[in-house]
Amino acid sequence: AWNAAYHQLELQLDRASFDTWLRSAVFLGYEAGIYLVGVPNGYARDMLQHRLYRNIRRVLSDVAGENCELRFEIYKGDVGEPEAPASDDMPLFKFMAQQPPAPAPEPKSLHQAVIPPQRPDLPESELNARYTIDRFIVNQSNSVVYEAALAVSDYPATVYNPFLIYGGVGLGKTHLLQSIAHRCAERGLKTVYIPSEVFTNDLIDAIRNRTTAMFRDKYRTVDVLLVDDIQFIAGKETTQEEFFHTFNALVNFNKQIVLASDRHPRELATLEDRLRSRFQGGLVADIQPPEYETRIAILQMWAQERGMELSSNVVDMIAHKAPNNVRELEGIFNQIAAQSRFSGGAVNFNNARETVERFRRPREHVQLDDIIQITADKHGLTIEELKGARRTGKINRARQIAMYIAREMTEYSLPQIGEAFGGRSHTTVLHGCNKINDELESDPILGNRIQKIMHSIRRGG
Ligand code: ADP
Ligand code: MG
Repeated sequence: AWNAAYHQLELQLDRASFDTWLRSAVFLGYEAGIYLVGVPNGYARDMLQHRLYRNIRRVLSDVAGENCELRFEIYKGDVGEPEAPASDDMPLFKFMAQQPPAPAPEPKSLHQAVIPPQRPDLPESELNARYTIDRFIVNQSNSVVYEAALAVSDYPATVYNPFLIYGGVGLGKTHLLQSIAHRCAERGLKTVYIPSEVFTNDLIDAIRNRTTAMFRDKYRTVDVLLVDDIQFIAGKETTQEEFFHTFNALVNFNKQIVLASDRHPRELATLEDRLRSRFQGGLVADIQPPEYETRIAILQMWAQERGMELSSNVVDMIAHKAPNNVRELEGIFNQIAAQSRFSGGAVNFNNARETVERFRRPREHVQLDDIIQITADKHGLTIEELKGARRTGKINRARQIAMYIAREMTEYSLPQIGEAFGGRSHTTVLHGCNKINDELESDPILGNRIQKIMHSIRRGG
């Protein structure tokens, strides 16, 4: 069903949205009505979760003939595959072929389901059900901000208004904002959570459709407005102007505003001064990276939720070695969880350590095109041959080596690498990398050759 839905969405969504957010999404698994979909980064995950979720779910549910939910996970792509394909250039969603063809949905209703309505509705808050306050682990690093979040949800527009949370990427800002949103919505308050880009896009639409008056009204009729990643409005003149008025109107009517930013407002250089002072007029609280003990507690919670057995030395190793950015910690955990799913539940200490170390490896600033060019050179091939469709032994071999090197030297996902290799599927890339990996175990000459190529790539040719 995912395969069919993916293609429907490709036709129905506007090109930019599809290319930006969905193109590289991969189907990871299905369980009890929930489709697990891998995306290359947290940003894509957030956007799919917040902005496109309803559309995707609707199309998927149509196609599947049942109500489906989706979960998006960051997926770097080397484990968790159902199995390595037996041949090169397998279709991306090979298992779909085994499912009965989906009934063709009526085009018109599908169209309506997917194209965002032009009516000036409030954007629907797509809250992640997992971002609740009871899943937020509290410790010294974040207790102030946590207590403030509780207070704001219990006494909106009374204690701190606005309430602004700032801190680095992946430290739980979105989680906390949505926790507040959940609590406020549960208490019957009209609550809207949006990433600031939604505000901007909505404003642009309103300007284009000459509905700015309606745009203004709608954001001013909520009880609680939570705007995530507010730093993105800095430098956008019209958005700032409009947000300034929205802000004032809400505060004047005693409505709560909650903001999250990656920096303190005074460090947002291109933020208008009047907004800067408004943003600092309530409580500004920072969120710090979690301490070791917090990382342990977070890992234990995740393991418990999945019914995973993680021995205390594995947890300890991850918490020690992993970065203290929770989003990256989650990426690592997901990899390890996927490994364990496909090896019957057990988590092997050495495998887990390898996974953590792979994540920690410093990025090398290497372009896929350079890898392709230099690997082609070293094999006496052209770039076109390496990217092309031909599959003679020699070309295929060089291609697999280049794919392997791309995995080793870059952070690109399997779909992204496939794209660079003339639009191949992620399973093809995975297959190529696995093949080289296997051979490396018993073929030191191959290892040597690959090292030499990597060395040339680092030197730039
Ligand atoms: P930010 O918005 O600051 O970039 P997120 O809120 O998206 O970060 O958090 C990244 C991931 O880490 C999310 O999955 C979130 O649930 C998790 N997370 C962050 N902090 C905590 C915490 N203190 N307890 C539990 N999970 C956390
Ligand atoms: Mg965030």
